[in-house]
Amino acid sequence: MPVTMNDQSGMRGAFNNGMNFAELPNDDLYSSVYAFDDDERKKPRLRESLKSSSLEAYLCSDVIQGKDEEKELLWYHGRITRDVALHFLQENGSTEGLFLVRESTSRNGDYVISLIHNGCPAHFQIQCLGDFYFRIENGPLFQGLDQLVNYYQTSADGLPTQLKAFCAGDLPPSTARRAGRTTPLHRAAMEGDKDILSKILEHDESLRGHIDSRNAMGQTALHEASARGFLSIINLLLDNDANINCKNSSGVSPLYVSCSTKHPESCQLLMKKNADPTQRHPRTGWVPLHEAVTRGYIQCAKHLIMAGAPCHPRNSSNETPMELARRYNQPSLVSLLKNFLPPAPQIPVSGYYHGPLDRSQALERIQAHGLADGVFLVRTSPHKPRVYVLSMAASASVYNFEIQTKSENLYIDDGPYFTALEMLIEHYMKYEDGLPTKLTQPIRKPSSEHDNNAGPNSRPSHRNPPSDGVRAPSCVKPPPLRSPPPTTGRKAMQPQSAVPAAQKYPPPPPRVQSVEDQERPSSPTTTQGPRAFSRILSSIRGNEKKEMDRQRRELQKAIQNVPGGGCTEDLQVIDAKQISKGKELGQGEFGTVLEGTWRDSRGHKHSVALKTLLTDHMHTSQQNEFLREAKVMCSLNHKCIVRLLGVCVGPPMMLVQELVGMGSLLEHLLNHPSEIPEGDLRLWAAQITSGMMYLEEKKFVHRDLAARNILLESNEQAKISDFGLSRATGANNDYYRATTGGRWPVKWYAPESIYYGTFSHSSDVWSFGVTLWEMFTYGDQPYGELTGAEVIKRIEAGKRLEKPKAAKETDYEMMMECWSYKAEDRPTFYQLNLSLSKEELYQGFYHAGFGQAPSKRKK
Ligand code: AMP
Repeated sequence: MPVTMNDQSGMRGAFNNGMNFAELPNDDLYSSVYAFDDDERKKPRLRESLKSSSLEAYLCSDVIQGKDEEKELLWYHGRITRDVALHFLQENGSTEGLFLVRESTSRNGDYVISLIHNGCPAHFQIQCLGDFYFRIENGPLFQGLDQLVNYYQTSADGLPTQLKAFCAGDLPPSTARRAGRTTPLHRAAMEGDKDILSKILEHDESLRGHIDSRNAMGQTALHEASARGFLSIINLLLDNDANINCKNSSGVSPLYVSCSTKHPESCQLLMKKNADPTQRHPRTGWVPLHEAVTRGYIQCAKHLIMAGAPCHPRNSSNETPMELARRYNQPSLVSLLKNFLPPAPQIPVSGYYHGPLDRSQALERIQAHGLADGVFLVRTSPHKPRVYVLSMAASASVYNFEIQTKSENLYIDDGPYFTALEMLIEHYMKYEDGLPTKLTQPIRKPSSEHDNNAGPNSRPSHRNPPSDGVRAPSCVKPPPLRSPPPTTGRKAMQPQSAVPAAQKYPPPPPRVQSVEDQERPSSPTTTQGPRAFSRILSSIRGNEKKEMDRQRRELQKAIQNVPGGGCTEDLQVIDAKQISKGKELGQGEFGTVLEGTWRDSRGHKHSVALKTLLTDHMHTSQQNEFLREAKVMCSLNHKCIVRLLGVCVGPPMMLVQELVGMGSLLEHLLNHPSEIPEGDLRLWAAQITSGMMYLEEKKFVHRDLAARNILLESNEQAKISDFGLSRATGANNDYYRATTGGRWPVKWYAPESIYYGTFSHSSDVWSFGVTLWEMFTYGDQPYGELTGAEVIKRIEAGKRLEKPKAAKETDYEMMMECWSYKAEDRPTFYQLNLSLSKEELYQGFYHAGFGQAPSKRKK
């Protein structure tokens, strides 16, 4: 247990400024769920800012500015394994306190901090509690990964060392941050500008951000719109899949915020759109009705209860809204809650009540209904005949909840009070409200038993008006259940949890023997002789073949499922035993690239490069990205393109490629600038255009053409590599539209790729121009230290990269043509290839035809 902290200090750490929520005066508590951002109000309106810039340019520079501004948060590395994390830590020097944060591969939703202490790595699980809180074991609770990391950057507090430098990666997921940046999406929502908001929403998430991301004040766009009563904005956001129950940094929903800011119209709309009124403030346990009532917002309270919110929910101190209304002197609200008659429940008690039944009988009846989520019945316990029990299925288990009573009210655990069983059941059919799942399908008692058991109908109905002003609806049939004798002392409240713990009796798991279990043969007990040995050997060989066939089929299926073009038929599956690994060549996006040897089934040896996917736990999406490269590459066969020889399923999974001996062109340019004659640069350039013409013919766009992705076989042969971002353009298009974020080498990208996410052969031509520039500067960084946003400004102002000293006027003219703003003004790879092969030096040497690129320089 690395973190030692008691709950008290834990809470303090979690809730800012050393303030424990329990110590907050109520007024602070009210204002804590929503506050207007004064800084934002001082800024010019979005519409004003957009007068001097297109929306695309504006969004783009905002994204880039975001990355620049939030450099200190780039410690997140996504779903990488422990081994990969270790590798990054080592690569970054293994200094004391060096760290990174990654997604847990063992528990969904959790994260891990990997750090270095005394030269050794250590890993600490960050638990994600209730989608909202984060903590390391029993350490303090934090409302976001950003807060947690920030805390441990200022003090070790239980960790073996304080967090210091980090391995640079990405920003943490926006939904796991307490607060983020206020983006144009938030601003359009805050300004109520539906026009601009709908245009922003047409853009890809990589440009406009996640719709549920929190702004600098910890509010999502939906919270901002709800706090202002902007109904059309609420509708627009919900139509675009905003999460109606998303939480702000105080842990409350847009519905809650609409009640705390007195916007009954937002409240009404959100309820109509099925917002959940049972979601609680994470510490106080208040639901929106507590908030509305305490503040005296009667319209909000009316909309809540008229749309089905329960009238008598309880907070963490067991108080109902009516008690709060009394305490805060809100007589009209007391009267509303006292006199409100909810609509008559639809399902009669006879639809699910089974009379006395023990747990195993209930289990049998529910199992007979297939254990579908939410299937339920109500019974009395044979041991406590006056206690009713709700038995329900969830996640293939059966749960039993006692339905308790207090002053003639019925309730489950810390849930709302109801005056009749039907109302309680109907509530849990509408809302989960602490149960493992919503109730869905009632199980009727078998008809043969109907008359044998005493059900609630046979009990004398209580006619006394419920105490505390809670009135039973007159139309409830059968009459409300009679209260059992008063219990002695109420059970302590449970902290809010997904399953009311005190009353949960997980039954013995239903054990159904699987086919696998039934068919598995018993282990052999006989001894084996020599004949048996050769039989075993041939059966091993047969099994190996079968295994390879199976792997091939599975791999082909997996690759076929990867979206985008390419082939699978020619894909060779290589047996891991035929591979021997050698030294490291470099680092790829998903793991190390190793030198190796592949001895094929005919015994021929090939020098290969092994691109590894460094984990067997890789996330499917990442594995897909990895396989996508294989899918593209296996349909390519050209002298100027690195060849894929096959895929080894592993683990680790590896792309087996031809070894391109001199490695990366960029490294070569940087390491040997004085040894590279200018002419070689043009030869390589010509070879690149040849490979790109071939790619064009095959209808692929590369999307990452740069010196780092050109490999040199020799001084006379360059090859295009790294097809990780390559995509098929589609039969009728000559462009590809990116729909997700990820790697985004802005400095190599054409304006239309940055603004619209469109990639074409012409945008590859723009990148080729930048690659040429890298070559003629012997590996300089394009645009030096300029940020992406600054680069875009330069391009918009008509400025381009300057002429490299080593480039002739004609070389630079070629680059400038590649950087024509309009895609249609750029040369094609065919034209580029033609003009490069016209160079006197190479005449007769370089042939532009596909598959006929030069392999030898003409002397
Ligand atoms: P990549 O993931 O393609 O960017 O590869 C990372 C690094 O591994 C490159 O920069 C090269 O140094 C090396 N590398 C990748 N593929 C090969 C290959 N086929 N032959 C030789 N080196 C390679």
